[in-house]
Amino acid sequence: MERDEYQEERARMVENQIAARGVRDPRVLAAIREVPRHLFVPGTIRSAAYQDRPLPIGSGQTISQPYIVALMTELLEPSPGDTVLEIGAGSGYQAAILGRLVARVITIDRLPEIAATAREHLQQLGITNVEVEVGDGTLGFPAQAPYQGILVTAATPEIPAPLLAQLADGGRLVAPVGGRDVQELIRVRKKGDQVVREYHGSVCFVPLIGEFGWKGR
Ligand code: SAH
Repeated sequence: MERDEYQEERARMVENQIAARGVRDPRVLAAIREVPRHLFVPGTIRSAAYQDRPLPIGSGQTISQPYIVALMTELLEPSPGDTVLEIGAGSGYQAAILGRLVARVITIDRLPEIAATAREHLQQLGITNVEVEVGDGTLGFPAQAPYQGILVTAATPEIPAPLLAQLADGGRLVAPVGGRDVQELIRVRKKGDQVVREYHGSVCFVPLIGEFGWKGR
């Protein structure tokens, strides 16, 4: 992508917040260096886009802390041929990062106004391999399954069963699983009829609300 006024700030963010905490995958670091995060936050807080924290994006939702985006992307082990499903489009930032690393991304949000803004952000950057859908992402998106990667970017009490069913053999699923206030970042790998779980530390996400997530508000 083109040079912009935040280029250096973004490079410092990658060094000091992301590489310094142990994210190593060079493709992931490059993608984060390239995608203009400031274009995914509301104009009024643009200058805060590269700070080490989540930021409000409207409708009570947040764009995740840059380090958490990097960590989840690395854990997903994205490869160039993959089709990836994201649950929780939010600003569209995480989907834009994934779009640089895999063939195709489908991202779902339950809130139409959030999905519309995510779509605008992606269009503005000319990103064409990311599709934004509106709906209950706890049901997955069967039409384009199976997925080599599934990333859940909202907190869920358990991994929604439909998502495991839509994961390809050898596929990875990354999700914050736990209570409403704090969750454990989990990576699941599907191997035949087995599912292997790993734990990757505590995180804090807004709730996943839907049939296989939290019910109601
Ligand atoms: N990945 C986003 C941040 C996600 S915030 C980014 O890069 O900016 C979590 C999002 O999950 C919110 O936008 C919320 O509306 C959405 N969400 C909550 N429950 C959902 C569900 N069942 N299906 C799809 N999206 C959901």
